[in-house]
Amino acid sequence: MAAGIVVGVTFSMVGAPLQPVNDVLVDGLLDAIGRIFVALLQMMVVPLVLVSIVCGVASLGDLRALGRVGVKTLGLYLLTTAIALVLALTLARVVSPGQGFDLAGEVAYQSQPPPPLTEVFVNMFPANPVRALAEGQMLQIIFFALLLGFAITRAGEAGRRIGAIFSDLNAVIMKMVSLVIRTAPLGVFALITTTFAAQGLELFRPLAGYAIVVAVSLLLHVCLTYTAVLRLARLSPIAFLTKMRAVMTFAFSTASSSATIPLTLGTVKKRLGVGNSVASFTVPLGATINMDGTAIMQGVATVFIANVYGVDLVLADYLTVVLIATLASIGTAAVPSAGLIMLAMVLGQVDLPVEGIALIIGIDRLLDMMRTAVNVCGDGAVTCLVARTERALDLATFNDPDAVMDGMVRPAAASSAQ
Ligand code: ASP
Repeated sequence: MAAGIVVGVTFSMVGAPLQPVNDVLVDGLLDAIGRIFVALLQMMVVPLVLVSIVCGVASLGDLRALGRVGVKTLGLYLLTTAIALVLALTLARVVSPGQGFDLAGEVAYQSQPPPPLTEVFVNMFPANPVRALAEGQMLQIIFFALLLGFAITRAGEAGRRIGAIFSDLNAVIMKMVSLVIRTAPLGVFALITTTFAAQGLELFRPLAGYAIVVAVSLLLHVCLTYTAVLRLARLSPIAFLTKMRAVMTFAFSTASSSATIPLTLGTVKKRLGVGNSVASFTVPLGATINMDGTAIMQGVATVFIANVYGVDLVLADYLTVVLIATLASIGTAAVPSAGLIMLAMVLGQVDLPVEGIALIIGIDRLLDMMRTAVNVCGDGAVTCLVARTERALDLATFNDPDAVMDGMVRPAAASSAQ
């Protein structure tokens, strides 16, 4: 990642003289490698989520336990998102980014209609599971897999046979994931280089206030909220963050929580010791509906746009933003830039011009990378807490610095190789 930043920024700063090399190397070769890498990750998401949830539910075996895990997980995801918003809005209100911003001329933004929230709920139930799988409709896949896993526990001998097949499939698919993950260093380098080569850093100057408030809020949320979540679970935040670092790097490079699912799932299971019965459910659900980082961006962006347009937000507006952005995060797709689509809905609720989004769109990619890293970190923290309360977390693995996922280099091996 660091090498990618250095190479990318060099290309972006040198500009014209390096253009021919840029065309062939960055826009050609590295762009292709980066896109192939993301495709490989995405390729694993649907089979992995389906099979691991089926196995998880089949091993849990009891609908009551599943309901309990579901309620706790959903509650914690919503609560952490609301806390993220309160934190972001407070900081944005104090710093007040966008005050005195020069709104030169008309800005144009073509907003896309966000899906109504009732649709998000109704859409959780797949009329056609094959289509859900083909289209990667995560909530529909989760629902179908839960029902399938539950039916397996209730179908006697036939259920046991099918359950055994799914369990074997799970092992094979995890092996595929570990093979894909071996290509990560090259994939991450390619993605980061192409992004930084295309991102002119000069875009940041007028928006530095906004970007800094978003970045600081993200950092505070990780340091305060997730630390509190882990302390509640009586787990070491340092051990957690050390092991989540690779997952966050992945999320940062791909800007997609969804593409990161294979690594998040592998890490919480193999490195943090969370049982599959909890992780298989909480991780894909979290990647789909839990977006604390996205909510933070939306909170800060709302205050920033209000300041630019000289609109005074009152307490009721802030509460509306907390409520709407928390709910909006459920409907935000876990792919790059999806947070901006939902921002349109948040702005609409407090009567701010949607065109304001045009002001921040130029630097959104980098902030998207940062907030996606926080999104997946939140999924991991809540997963650990839920697992701990369900007695589904193996402390020895959590505390073992050498616990690694298949396909990753052991830290000890890496340092002795240097
Ligand atoms: N890229 C984010 C994610 O996948 C969503 C967003 O904020 O745009 O988690």
